Amino acid sequence: MKWLNAGAGWIGLVKDEWITDIKQAGYENQTNFELPKTQPLSKVENLKIGNQLTPRKLSGGDIEKFHPSTQNQIFSPIFREEQLVAVIVLEMFNEIPFTSNEKKFLERLSDHSSIALMNSLFYEEIQKANLAKSEFVSLVAHELKNPMTSIKGYTELLTTGAAGEISETQEYFLSIIRNNTDRMNTLVSDLNDLTKIETGNIHLEYKPTQIENIFDDVVRSITKQIDQKNQNLVVNILNDIPSIWVDPIRLTQILINLLSNANKYTKENGKISLYAEKIKKPDSNGKSDTMAHIWVEDTGIGISEEDQKSIFQKFFRSEDQNVRAISGTGLGLNITRSLIEMMGGSIWFESEIEKGTTFHIVVPLLEN
Ligand code: ADP
Repeated sequence: MKWLNAGAGWIGLVKDEWITDIKQAGYENQTNFELPKTQPLSKVENLKIGNQLTPRKLSGGDIEKFHPSTQNQIFSPIFREEQLVAVIVLEMFNEIPFTSNEKKFLERLSDHSSIALMNSLFYEEIQKANLAKSEFVSLVAHELKNPMTSIKGYTELLTTGAAGEISETQEYFLSIIRNNTDRMNTLVSDLNDLTKIETGNIHLEYKPTQIENIFDDVVRSITKQIDQKNQNLVVNILNDIPSIWVDPIRLTQILINLLSNANKYTKENGKISLYAEKIKKPDSNGKSDTMAHIWVEDTGIGISEEDQKSIFQKFFRSEDQNVRAISGTGLGLNITRSLIEMMGGSIWFESEIEKGTTFHIVVPLLEN
């Protein structure tokens, strides 16, 4: 604006014969005048002629002027697929003819602002579409929950013989139904968590928590899965760890997820370890914080260097046949990382193909 000697100017989006979202400069100090945030397109429509980038001298009342001192006006329309989507209006308080350089500058300015504006409009549209997608996924996940609980409940009832004795074949079929409802349950709750995280609707309930209690819950939940593959689970807390400051339900979920991965991606008879210790972790300011360090180590298939770059990405699953043979959503680690970071912690891992993988997390202590 300054470069072109304009005294005031504004930009607004055009929608259904109205100019909206008007952003202005130079009208601030007018005592009797305030530039409205919206106005009808007709107010500038008589400027919609080929000479929009040439200053127009105002005479009589033929053109609406927005600043009382305006003598010259430039109008620059912004089009998208031949449709007028925005307007820029510059107002000059004196009559200075433009040099050809200034005209070129104005044309470039108009082109650039048109691109920037289109990008921001696209971005807004993408954001809206993303939100609509998240709401839809959340609705579907919610609606699937009830029928799934019912299928699971009746399957359990049939298995216990509540509706009459069942044969071995029937028991086998029922176990297939149960496994598949478990898979669907995991998928639905992962999708639910993902949308909650993406829309910022996740609520963490922080409590002073003892790692021993978390480990007890985690081991109780995972033992059956570990036993099914005849694996050896070692649990050890290496030194005295004071209370940690976390959402205990979410931390339990995180550790079950890491142990479940260790179980899934380790062959039968393998070893899985769950450890914790108190450590001093250096922060970016060169100081150090005492934190709780928890890690899950397995003797499984390992993660290739190529896959290591992607494992925290949404829906990522390795192309490795050993991984593809096992069911999974590719959401667990993505959710885990978000939850850990929300709790003020961090996660990292090291892995060697065919040797095994160790996932580490640190979480804050209550005293910090
Ligand atoms: P899912 O296990 O449902 O596929 P995750 O997000 O938990 O999804 O893990 C993403 C991918 O990371 C897995 O598909 C697998 O390729 C790899 N991965 C995770 N944990 C391990 C592990 N302990 N050992 C080997 N690979 C692993």
